[in-house]
Amino acid sequence: MDSKKSGFNTICTHIGEIEDQQFKGAISPIYLSTSYAFEDVDIKRYPRYFNTPNQEALCKKIAALEKGESSLIFGSGMAAISTSLFAFLQKGDHIVLQRTLYGGTANLVNEEFGKHGIEYSYVDSQTAEGFEEKIKSNTKVIYIETPSNPLLTITDIEAIASLARKRGIITMIDNTFASPVNQNPIEMGIDIVIHSATKYLGGHSDILAGAVISTKEHMDRIFQVAKNFGGSLSDFTVWMLERSIKTLGLRVKRQNKNALKLAKWLEKMDDIAAVYYPGLKTHPDHELAKKQMNGFGGMLSFELQEDLDASLFQKELKLIKSSMSLAGVESTILSPTLTSHALLTEEERNAQGIRDGLLRFSVGIEDKEDLMQDILQALKKIKALALQD
Ligand SMILES: *Cc1c(COP(=O)(O)O)cnc(C)c1O
Repeated sequence: MDSKKSGFNTICTHIGEIEDQQFKGAISPIYLSTSYAFEDVDIKRYPRYFNTPNQEALCKKIAALEKGESSLIFGSGMAAISTSLFAFLQKGDHIVLQRTLYGGTANLVNEEFGKHGIEYSYVDSQTAEGFEEKIKSNTKVIYIETPSNPLLTITDIEAIASLARKRGIITMIDNTFASPVNQNPIEMGIDIVIHSATKYLGGHSDILAGAVISTKEHMDRIFQVAKNFGGSLSDFTVWMLERSIKTLGLRVKRQNKNALKLAKWLEKMDDIAAVYYPGLKTHPDHELAKKQMNGFGGMLSFELQEDLDASLFQKELKLIKSSMSLAGVESTILSPTLTSHALLTEEERNAQGIRDGLLRFSVGIEDKEDLMQDILQALKKIKALALQD
């Protein structure tokens, strides 16, 4: 089957599948061997070489979803991110990164790069000019993440890609929040696309994995480092991930729809002080999001009015679960101040626009009426409690 001629959902369902020649089963068989006979001198199959039958099959699907030539899957999103960064950076090199990064990525940079003599600069403004100002003669990589966590700010992918191309700098994007359903950065000129497959690709809160997609040439360079770092994914999980991706298009489209409806509904409510969602006309980056995204995603954030207690509200929710992670079929919510951004000082959080009452909402596939009902009953409870005080 030709992935270039197939629609998104057909790629999700079929590309890369392994034919069960023995029993003619409907799905890819799973091969758990860690030991394979030599096919010839060059081909040694071994899970840490990223070339078991199930790994190779899934990589074809993921490359097709992101319209890249080649891909690798890793044991976690952080394994994918760290391996990709270390493949393109060495002692004396410099990287320019967006300030609003996933916490684990920021920790990797802040805690490890210094030890290896890699220089880094963060960009606060998120405009192409902001990135350009930080470029130095030894800059090798520009790294972005859009939409960002937790305020869903949008970085101009095409502008960054073209700026980097002119200077011969490699671009990397963390495309986790958008998923391949809503954003395909390779088509916009980005060199390397990274996913925490733990999130939308997995989608059921039961898989930890990562993925990198790029040209064959770049992926070969990443592979040379990957086999040394050893962050490959177990074949059982590879097989589960293949199964999960079959419904990626269906899930995320539904999450887009739910999130847009809920964002518009929350925005009109008196008890809500602010809603952050790139699909809202009031979002400062709405036009840019419309230009570079096919859908606005399932992530949104909101603030309650100041006199309402966000922690109490979170506890009173019944259907929407408090959870550290995101992007499952079930709706989850967290306070960035208490969890993902707890290590920042209040000043640093305020500088990024993250107020204490902010809640990050990962919208699931449930019926939106039930999600709304849950929010309404929790608001009613905390307002009644506030009156008693
Ligand atoms: C979760 C996440 C990661 C890290 O992925 P793990 O699978 O937890 O290692 C990286 N980037 C983003 C945007 C994430 O949400």
